[in-house]
Amino acid sequence: MFITKSGRRLGKPLSAKIRITVPKDSLTPEEKAKILKAVGEKLGTTVRVKSVHKAPQVGEDHILPPVKDAELAYYRVFDLKGFYNDLCRFLGIKGLAKAIRQDEFYKPDGLPCTPEELDLLDRFINGNLAISPAIPETLAVRAFLVGRIASELETNGKLVKVAYKNLPTTVEEAMGGYPLTDVERRAIEFGKFYAGEKIMAMQEDTRRLVRQIIVESRQNSVHPRRLAQTLFDRVVDTDANLNRDWQRVAITEANNMASNGFLGTMVDGQYVIWHAHPDACAYCRSQHYKVFKVTDNPPEDYGHLDPGNKKYKEIAKRWETEVWVGKNNYGRSTALKKRTPKGLMNREHHERATVVIPLHPHCRCRWFRFDPEVQFVNDKGRIQFRLREREDEYQKWLKANPQVREFLGKVT
Ligand SMILES: [Zn+2]
Repeated sequence: MFITKSGRRLGKPLSAKIRITVPKDSLTPEEKAKILKAVGEKLGTTVRVKSVHKAPQVGEDHILPPVKDAELAYYRVFDLKGFYNDLCRFLGIKGLAKAIRQDEFYKPDGLPCTPEELDLLDRFINGNLAISPAIPETLAVRAFLVGRIASELETNGKLVKVAYKNLPTTVEEAMGGYPLTDVERRAIEFGKFYAGEKIMAMQEDTRRLVRQIIVESRQNSVHPRRLAQTLFDRVVDTDANLNRDWQRVAITEANNMASNGFLGTMVDGQYVIWHAHPDACAYCRSQHYKVFKVTDNPPEDYGHLDPGNKKYKEIAKRWETEVWVGKNNYGRSTALKKRTPKGLMNREHHERATVVIPLHPHCRCRWFRFDPEVQFVNDKGRIQFRLREREDEYQKWLKANPQVREFLGKVT
């Protein structure tokens, strides 16, 4: 904005962004509106709000408490603080830990690192971040079982504390106490694969970042104390990209497996209702308390069919209304348009993200069991049982939910 001392406007209209952060759920929408109105009046303008979706942090309260343990388990695969301490020791600089090696690796002498030095550094990093090959399977199996147990707790109505650390560590072991179907085993295998891939990527990213920081610090004769701070800021700090990325992986992967574990307990033809996590994004919130049918018989790929085709439309509809173990948004996007050599084009249905939990990285929404014959969502947004005195409310809900009417064969 351009305003002279006398207040005369010179350039574009007044526009400014103010970021106000308030603790989650600390203010009601009415209170927020009141504050914004007051701010607007003071500034002599209207204030438009863009709510910023804050990424959740790993280990925060979860709508499904046992999943919190699964998230933390993924996150703790890498002990970034321990890595940082060892790294500082290796470099011979003072980090959080005191010990300093005599033969200092890091010299702020303005010289490039030699290939031998880089090799030594790589070997240190690779050795320090090495993960047992059994880890990805354990993470996937346990997160999956956490979802399954949560479902069982829900049906039994009992909230038993799940001892995460006592859960089976391999698929074989899991088969002993918790029989798994082929589909479930496959879902776990994919979870194991993804966990392994993400772990490798994290090792690689860490290696690349640390190398770069050290090479550039040395070249610029950065003092060891400042190097220690830079490494701390960019590797360890919970807001550092590396750390944040890994938290995102932990949250998404744990929730993905738990969600599949949950769906695995459902029988073909049963129903689930989407429960949006309180900090969910706009799309997830728009799905809140929508009802979907669980199927054991997922539709085949339809991306090769013509979108005008009848079969294409049938399958597209199933993607919108049904969920199954292993359903995911592979090859789909939440963006409505795509870039093509011919310019911006609308995405076809098979290219668009659809009903899957987690829908996107960081998504902590979850499924609940739901029976639309005997349950409904009332005006206050609460799930209720269909009692005789609530029949009017039930019918009203049914009327507002054509999809549910169709499920129940009450097409009007
Ligand atoms: Zn979500």
